[in-house]
Amino acid sequence: MTHIAHHIGGARITTDALRQPVVDPATGQQIGEVELADAALVDRAVATAQEAAGPWGGLSLTKRQRVMFDYRTLLLERVDELAAVITREHGKTLDDAAGEIQRGIEVVEHLCSAPDLLKGGHSEQVSTGVDIHSARHPLGVVAGITPFNFPAMVPMWMFPVAIACGNGFILKPSERDPSASLLLAQWFEEAGLPPGVLNVVQGGREAAEAILAHQGIAAVSFVGSTPVARSIYENGARYGKRVQALGGAKNHMVVMPDADLDAAADAAVSAAFGSAGQRCMAVSAVVAVGGVGAELVGRITKRAADLRIGAGDQDVDMGPMITREARDRAVHLVGTGVEQGAELELDGRDLVDDEGFFLGPCLLTDVRPDMDVYREEIFGPVLIVLDAPTVDDALQLIDDNPYGNGVAIFTESGGVAREFQRRVSAGMVGVNVPIPVPLSFYSFGGWDDSLFGSSHIYGPEGVAFYTRGKVVTTRWTQTDGLQMGFAPPN
Ligand code: NAD
Repeated sequence: MTHIAHHIGGARITTDALRQPVVDPATGQQIGEVELADAALVDRAVATAQEAAGPWGGLSLTKRQRVMFDYRTLLLERVDELAAVITREHGKTLDDAAGEIQRGIEVVEHLCSAPDLLKGGHSEQVSTGVDIHSARHPLGVVAGITPFNFPAMVPMWMFPVAIACGNGFILKPSERDPSASLLLAQWFEEAGLPPGVLNVVQGGREAAEAILAHQGIAAVSFVGSTPVARSIYENGARYGKRVQALGGAKNHMVVMPDADLDAAADAAVSAAFGSAGQRCMAVSAVVAVGGVGAELVGRITKRAADLRIGAGDQDVDMGPMITREARDRAVHLVGTGVEQGAELELDGRDLVDDEGFFLGPCLLTDVRPDMDVYREEIFGPVLIVLDAPTVDDALQLIDDNPYGNGVAIFTESGGVAREFQRRVSAGMVGVNVPIPVPLSFYSFGGWDDSLFGSSHIYGPEGVAFYTRGKVVTTRWTQTDGLQMGFAPPN
């Protein structure tokens, strides 16, 4: 059984603190145990990061840039090794795991241009003999608290940005799939990152609370469920920290009557059931406009029924859910949908047994906004379909929903798509694109209950989040120059 410890100052640190089982979701069997950090361990990690952050932030930009390039090369060589670790603890397919690593690598690639991203402005002769320039400075030590569903990609939304900007970093990954973070930290050091700049503390709520309360940490990035995101934001602010806290989602996919229904059905199936629906950008609610529902549902049902389900390291389309509790909650919510009047077109509950945390694809139609299956984030392979008479009704439905992460519209009409993307209340919009995750040179973030704080994550907003601005106004008298032999100005 693997023992999963902390990574502090370039070394694996084991303590006699509490431990928690790590379980293979495909079998339900324990495969490891992870240590759970307490406040003392967090304090040790912060002290280590503080010592390392100064020299790292003081290193020339080009030397820091070279480390980012070498890290990228090394990650590309080791995608398969990391994907296998992710699949074992998370359960997603190897392809899905490799996909999330690729998205993380794209963030590293963006940060290979850190010298450009950190450029300030310069204004000459704003007054006689006076110039002004601006610069971005690192904050010191910053931290990230991440969810189970992307054990490589979400940490990589954070630490490469913070570190390229010259900060030290404390990463607290999810206690359910904690191993990927250790490899990411170890490999960064192999690529030349000085030990102590990136530290991983394992743990759950106690470790997260110690991070929030620690006076040596200037900023916290959080990604997880909405109730925890809200409390992290409130508590972080109470401790005087910068906080960006990304929460849960209920992502709508609006299908117009003129849409290419085969493309829309393909998109709905991969976006709803990929990674067993455990993606923050998963499509969880299809909104069929103008009576297109029946035809669309037929196509979705046919495709979803063909999905191959099994352990993520086999030749399958969809793996298990993360825990028995998460699976049982999704099963319960499907039951409430039926009780409250929805039609269960596809019932994946026959896959439920005691071995592994599997749930097959479930499709509920005739869903109303007051039903639990619509109000709750299910975070499993359950797709619901609502009908809306017009696109205005669809927009109203989305606006009334408390979340505002991603949204998509499928249509062949440019005018409808343009008006929709302007009016819709969500942070990330796809037009004929079901999962519109911004590339690394934009920033990722939702609206409303999907984001607490003002800053989206990675990209330009990430760089701004992990740095603070300084503006320097300089006066040199011209007489100095004249004494050195310059001719007087005309
Ligand atoms: P979670 O909120 O249970 O846990 C997230 C992190 O917070 C973990 O590291 C966990 O140890 C820690 N934590 C849990 N309870 C805590 C508490 N009371 N105080 C402090 N820390 C606590 O989320 P999860 O189940 O790991 O992940 C799934 C959720 O994350 C879903 O709601 C999903 O939508 C969301 N998510 C959102 C995004 C986004 O970009 N908006 C991305 C990925 C996941």
